[in-house]
Amino acid sequence: GSQAPAIRVQGLVKQYGAVRAVDGIDFEVPAGTVTGLLGGNGAGKTTTIAMLLGLVLPSLGRIEIFGVDAVADRYRVLPSMNFESPYVEMPLRLTVRQNLTVYGRLYGVADLKARIAELAGDLELGEILDRPTGKLSAGQKTRVSLAKALINAPRILLLDEPTASLDPDTADWVRSHLERYRTAKGATILLASHNMSEVERLCTDVVMMKAGRIVGRGSPEALIRQYGRTNMEEVFL
Ligand code: ATP
Repeated sequence: GSQAPAIRVQGLVKQYGAVRAVDGIDFEVPAGTVTGLLGGNGAGKTTTIAMLLGLVLPSLGRIEIFGVDAVADRYRVLPSMNFESPYVEMPLRLTVRQNLTVYGRLYGVADLKARIAELAGDLELGEILDRPTGKLSAGQKTRVSLAKALINAPRILLLDEPTASLDPDTADWVRSHLERYRTAKGATILLASHNMSEVERLCTDVVMMKAGRIVGRGSPEALIRQYGRTNMEEVFL
């Protein structure tokens, strides 16, 4: 129905041999909100995001995207989602325009030329559209990477440590652009991070993960009240 959460995860498990990367998690992300997935190395954040995107098949459990079974119907839900992660490199020999065209086609963007022109305006890509992605500065690459994440005007954006490799000013700029996008489109964001202050800046709700399990949840303020700001990391690291 129209009240279905953007994301609903039930009893989700991913087993790799003897390792349970994700060990039975349940959470919901209401449409239009920003939720943080907070956890240290090996908590299972990346695996969770990969399952939401249909890149990794769950061993057990259910994922719904706006009420649709995302495992059975992954090609139906894919066009409404996208992701941003510094761990994903674009083909560096392709120009910015070629890269955005490839990703746009992948997500079935209808009026791709117009969408690229719109993003070029929003993200100041006009000058660099026909340059090879590998020849760009770090700041330019960040803007292209955001354009790629927004190419299909996703209703759900999954972010895996989106500012991990950025200097503080660029990181601030990325956060404010994401927040602007969310507000303008009523989009939903799930942000994986190991950094409470990053999560606090963007998120209204937090799901804390450790060793594949959920170990706490609430608003950033409620979690800080419950655990204390300085003790927080002991809960999830
Ligand atoms: P990080 O920030 O280090 O990426 P994370 O919270 O994203 O941490 P995951 O990458 O999801 O954690 O990994 C969770 C656990 O699953 C880790 O113990 C990891 O070694 C293991 N794991 C992840 N992918 C695989 C795989 N393809 N094969 C085997 N084990 C895996």
